[in-house]
Formats: sequence, C-alpha cells, structure tokens
Amino acid sequence: MARDAHGKKSVPLEVDGKRNLIGLDFDELSAALAALGLEKFRTAQVWSWLYSRGARDFAAMTDLAKPAREKLAEHYVIARPSVSQHQKSKDGTQKWLLKMADGQEVECVHIPETDRGALCVSSQVGCTLTCRFCHTGTQRLVRSLDASEIVAQVMLAKDYLNEWDVPAQSRLRGACEAGVPQSSRARTKTGKPGGSPAVRLLTNIVMMGMGEPLFNYENVAKALRIVMRGDGIAIGKRRITLSTSGVVPLIERCGAELGVNLAISLHAVTDELRDQIMPINRKYPIKELLAACRAYPGASNARRITFEYVMLKGVNDSPADAKQLVRLLRGIPAKINLIPFNPWPGTPFECSERNVIEKFGDIVNAAGYASPIRATRGDDIMAACGQLKSASMKLSAAERAAIDRLIAEKDRAQGLSA
Ligand code: SAH
Ligand code: SF4
Repeated sequence: MARDAHGKKSVPLEVDGKRNLIGLDFDELSAALAALGLEKFRTAQVWSWLYSRGARDFAAMTDLAKPAREKLAEHYVIARPSVSQHQKSKDGTQKWLLKMADGQEVECVHIPETDRGALCVSSQVGCTLTCRFCHTGTQRLVRSLDASEIVAQVMLAKDYLNEWDVPAQSRLRGACEAGVPQSSRARTKTGKPGGSPAVRLLTNIVMMGMGEPLFNYENVAKALRIVMRGDGIAIGKRRITLSTSGVVPLIERCGAELGVNLAISLHAVTDELRDQIMPINRKYPIKELLAACRAYPGASNARRITFEYVMLKGVNDSPADAKQLVRLLRGIPAKINLIPFNPWPGTPFECSERNVIEKFGDIVNAAGYASPIRATRGDDIMAACGQLKSASMKLSAAERAAIDRLIAEKDRAQGLSA
C-alpha cells in the first residue's frame, strides 16, 4: 500500500473486502488477472473497458468469457466514490463532493470552456499546510488520497460529462445507472443519443484541488501515469498541470518522472511576507524555490512555469511588489497568473480592487511576462480556487479562535512554527 510524505498509509478504495481495480497500474492489473488464471493479453482488454469505455461492472466486458467475468467479480469491484453533493454554477462550473469508502470527503471541480475544459482534482482530504488565504488549510481532518481515489475523480467527471467511448446502448445505460442528469447525456456528434461526444469537455487536468500534491507524490504520480496512458483516458502530460506551494525536494523528480506542467503558488515576493502567509516558506524559502524552478526539467519558452499570485488587498499588491516579482523571475521561462482572492467564511483577507490588479498586471506585462487575470469561476457554489473545503460553515469569534489554534497546531506538527 502506498504511503504519503508523512509515512502514513493512505486508505485504498475497498468495497465489501474486495479490492478496487481502479487505481492499479497496467503491470499490477496484469498480475491481478494472471493470479486469477486469465491470459496476459486480457490486460489490454480490461484496461480498455475501464479507462476508454468507462465500464462500471464486469458484466459489460462482453469480449471476456462469462467465467472470467464471474471470477473478476468474485475478487474485485469497479468502484467510484459516491457523490454526496453535486452543484452546478450559473457559469457551467460543476462541483462534486465525493465520499470515499472510509467516509472522508473531497471536492472536485470541472471548469468548462467552449471547446475544452479542465478538471480540478484533489490530492488529499484537507491539507497539512496552512496557507492563511486558503480555506482548505483550515480543515482539521487530513489524509492523503490513494491513487484509485485520484483516478476515480477523473472517471466520475467523465461519467457526468458523458465522455466515454462506448456504444450507444451501454452508454445510456451507464449514464442512467450513474444517476447522471438527462441534459448531460444528450450532447453528441450527431445530436442523437449515443456515439462519441462532439466536443470534449474534459481535456485538461489541474492538480489544484484540495491538498498539496507533492506531499502525496507517490499516489499522485501513479494516478497521473494511469490517466496519461494513450490506451485509456489519454490526457497527456502537456495537458496536465501540477500546482505546488513549493515542496522543493520533489520538484525536480516531478519534472523528470512525469514531465507535467508546473505551477508554483508564489503569492509573495519577500521571505518575510511569504513566511507569514505560506508557512512552508520557513522550510523552503523563495531563493531555493526559484532555484528548483530554474532547474525544472522540460521548462522552456514554449512550456513556461506558471506562477500563481493571489491578489490580497494591501498585503502583496503594490507596484513595488510587482517590480520585485519581475526581478525574482528573471531568467525563468514564466507566466504569471494573477488570481483575484476568493473569500470564504471567516477569512481575514480581502481581494484587491480591480484597478490595482490591472496596474500590477501592467507592470509585470511590461517586463515581458504574460500576466492574465484569472477569471473567477464557480464562486456562487464555493468552487473557486481556495474555497474548497468538505463542509461549509459560518464562524463565530470562538470558532475563529479555535481555527487559529488548529493552524498553530498544524504548523507545529510540520515543524513550521513561527
Ligand atoms: N496545494 C497546492 C494546490 C492547491 S491550491 C498549491 O497550493 O499550489 C490551488 C491554487 O489556489 C493555489 O495557487 C492556491 O494558492 C490558490 N488559492 C488558495 N486559496 C485561495 C483563495 N482564497 N483565493 C484564490 N486563490 C487561492
Ligand atoms: Fe494547502 Fe495549497 Fe491551500 Fe496552501 S494553498 S493550504 S498548500 S491547498
């Protein structure tokens, strides 16, 4: 069983004592089938049923002999997490609150564009880190997700978006069983039910949901390798972005082994401020973080590193901050994403005024860096960046004090106390 960065076991998705086939890599699947006496070439067939066609049970795998299907069903399940809540924003963004086999919950968000779309995937229940502007950082319960639980987020979104390559009849049956609303089952090339969808709406993955992906590297890497394989879900490394708060020792490995796009949550240009708002900076300060970015395998002008910068009113948004940002990034193939701060109940921060954000962007732009202001998506359903948390809540002063104590405890446990 995989372990996370803290040596804790992550919990696999198991149902009624049967192991989930989702989340096994190709070699593990091959070994699992061999142990049941199935021939080697069956692995590619089962893989395709799981990850190309989105089969939800073994009975659907019609090119497997009945006894083989029964044997598989005796020992394994094909399990998705259950959906505790499904919300759709007025801008089309969808958010799922997913319940894992042990009852823990995470959120997963789909952000559609006209001809593509990104799925924002969680890597942990909560987060051990305590970035002061982030709702997830105030969550008490923390555990890392297993590879199956990470892959299953992508699969569940594909169920809802009706984006599996399956024949018409099973496609409709699968969607009905998944409880997928009729409206999201109707969109096809021909406008008729069945067939392949005309426009894919799950084309990109961003590891920007709950949790710090590099604190759960093994499971995240395994899940992304499953998602990237061309004979399955086939979302390639150039369409996957991993966002980190700056876990310096794992950045190089992530680039060398996975080759995905890198995003860095920078948010401050001095160690003094970054230490305060992102305590991980006390362990890995700005200089070390940027050195790791300079050395990131595969970064080039064609594949720039994204620096995320949340705009906090009166905290990090002055013209002097913008100029310092430009100085810091010199020599790094970078683009800067300016993120309007998304508020959540009990936060001490406010978002910078629009004209302040624009002025900040102009300075960065004039220095030759693209600096788009990220459109806020899904904020009416608390699905925007930094708003994810398993339970929504309103805070009293006493509750706020309790959260401050919790943050101090979490920082101490990480060796990040001020
Ligand atoms: N743990 C990883 C990935 C998840 S956070 C990381 O920190 O990079 C995804 C992005 O949302 C990060 O850049 C994070 O800093 C940003 N974010 C967090 N809280 C936010 C908020 N309230 N408003 C806007 N962006 C926020
Ligand atoms: Fe964790 Fe990222 Fe939120 Fe920081 S910003 S608390 S690292 S999820």
